[in-house]
Amino acid sequence: MAEQFASKRNIRFMLYEVFNAEELTQYEFYQDHSRETFDMIIDTVWKMGVDFLYPLYQELDKNPPQFVDGQAKVHPATRQFMRMCGEGGWINANWSYEDGGQQVPLLITFVNSLIMAAANCGLSGFPALTTGAANLILNFGSQELKDLYLEKMVSGEWQGTMALTEPDAGSSLADIKTTAVDTGEGYYKIKGQKIFISAGDTDATDNTIHLMLAKIEGAPPGVRGISLFVVPKYRYAKDGSLERNDIWCTGIEHKMGFKGSPICTLVMGENNDCHGYLVGEPHMGLSYMFQMMNEARIGVGIGAVGKATAAYYDALEYTKQRLQGRKPSQKDPTAPQVPLIEHADIRRMLLFQRAVCEGGLSLALQLSKYVDLAKVGVEPEKHELLVDFLVPIVKSFPSEYGILSTSAAMQCLGGYGYCQDFPVEQHFRDIRIDPIHEGTTGIQAQDLLGRKTTMKNGEAYRLFMEEVKRTMAEAAEIPELKPQAEALAKGLEVMDDVTSYLLKVRKEKGPEEFLADANLYLEMTGLLAIGWQWLLQGVVAYRALQNQPSEGDTKFYRGKLITLKYFYTYELPKVNTLAHVLKTSQGLTANMDISLFDEE
Ligand SMILES: Cc1cc2nc3c(=O)[nH]c(=O)nc-3n(C[C@H](O)[C@H](O)[C@H](O)COP(=O)(O)OP(=O)(O)OC[C@H]3O[C@@H](n4cnc5c(N)ncnc54)[C@H](O)[C@@H]3O)c2cc1C
Repeated sequence: MAEQFASKRNIRFMLYEVFNAEELTQYEFYQDHSRETFDMIIDTVWKMGVDFLYPLYQELDKNPPQFVDGQAKVHPATRQFMRMCGEGGWINANWSYEDGGQQVPLLITFVNSLIMAAANCGLSGFPALTTGAANLILNFGSQELKDLYLEKMVSGEWQGTMALTEPDAGSSLADIKTTAVDTGEGYYKIKGQKIFISAGDTDATDNTIHLMLAKIEGAPPGVRGISLFVVPKYRYAKDGSLERNDIWCTGIEHKMGFKGSPICTLVMGENNDCHGYLVGEPHMGLSYMFQMMNEARIGVGIGAVGKATAAYYDALEYTKQRLQGRKPSQKDPTAPQVPLIEHADIRRMLLFQRAVCEGGLSLALQLSKYVDLAKVGVEPEKHELLVDFLVPIVKSFPSEYGILSTSAAMQCLGGYGYCQDFPVEQHFRDIRIDPIHEGTTGIQAQDLLGRKTTMKNGEAYRLFMEEVKRTMAEAAEIPELKPQAEALAKGLEVMDDVTSYLLKVRKEKGPEEFLADANLYLEMTGLLAIGWQWLLQGVVAYRALQNQPSEGDTKFYRGKLITLKYFYTYELPKVNTLAHVLKTSQGLTANMDISLFDEE
């Protein structure tokens, strides 16, 4: 196992050189922070990653949760970790002082998420889910719900979940069947079944608080009939003591990866006594949940970056040490073998991984900064629209390309990459979930093309273009980066052309054909967004090199520039192929006869 699972140097570069995290401290909400406090936070989480999380990474995989006595028995370290997160204030670090938080920018807490996910993705999910669930209660719940649940959740004593999926409703939440009947006594009776609920019922905490979607009797059909409830495993009795609620875990799934974190099947109301407490207004559940899902989707993107990054550092270390073969120019068979990293093809695969990991991280942090700026009232409408536009990309690009990146890491290790001696095969299995949960890539693609490109009369799309063009203009001033700036400009023209074409398809041929290749559109946009982020990093690295940095820094910045060139040479050109398919597929899949899949 490599010593390193992420790069502190790269984190510093992103935070302070690219995204100027200190700039946020000029706003009242963040004014008590400084580079020192940011560093302190990150150093503390890094230490937790090195000393606690990373050493347990393979152990959790080898000792997955078991279903015992009606709940998931997880590794004992999970309980310890949840309490560590509670005591460290990591679960609600972004909250205001008034609400008990530390007013830390998302830019910083998402770096924490990166570190935790890279060190041990299985464990990192537990506090992240609790943060999301607690945020929903904080933002939309009544004072009573806040008073009853938040303290225990943010202390890590109680687990939070998001309970959406049902046997007949995965991607299509409009079809959930779980019902809620108002008793008139301050609670609803909940009945139904949920599946795949992460951390749905474990022995890591003393209680589990589900943020659950259900339909109130008589609600309108579809998504407009969905409400949000707090459904605790142990509810408060009238005398204030805790009593068992009628929600039961009936089993856990056996997964290919991400094994530290169990997914549970839950049955509510078997004894007609499952109490649920309405959050906010009736029928507003999905829009509230979208807040949590947006955070969760950014979190999935960051998590995927983390896993791919850890795999990259394994590959990097291995290829520096393993001796194999000779350079093509070396004809003497008795000459010593060279380390794998001497081979150009290995370097290509390493650069690919770096381009995906550092490009993905950059995009996720860009998005986090928009969230932080919107929160303190800096052009909130603009920044919120940019967030909306970028969420499906930040969720999907690192998830999909992260799989390829982790696969490339495995390839660098050859046969050992496929064996359990090294954790790369585990990273490969662990990351495979990311294009599936929190909305599949297909759903993200429909969201981007079907909603985000045209929302507010195309304003979000226009703002995205504007941001990219601003970076392009800066890069175009630097002769060394001019070719890449021009390539990105051409890429944007291609995107504009394809978008107009597809909007015409929607008008003339309808939504089926319009959305048929939404995945390709998402990939194309993702490549352009990552190209933008590489150019942004390139401008910073180029300028830093003009100031005679130390030898170590010179290598770091030159490493950035070569990765940027790699991305523009090997990856960005894929935009043209994707655009070509998008313009020529002519509804091939949308209009085909499905009986053509039949075989005698
Ligand atoms: C490890 C893990 C953790 C999870 N954690 C949670 C959790 O904590 N809480 C929770 O509520 N859920 C959770 N889930 C469930 C997860 O969110 C769903 O699995 C996911 O949303 C997909 O739903 P599904 O499995 O029913 O697949 P389906 O919806 O059946 O989708 C199957 C395929 O069909 C495609 N598809 C579906 N509908 C359409 C359409 N209209 N147009 C085009 N393509 C379509 C999808 O993109 C996908 O490729 C988890 C799942 C896993 C495996």
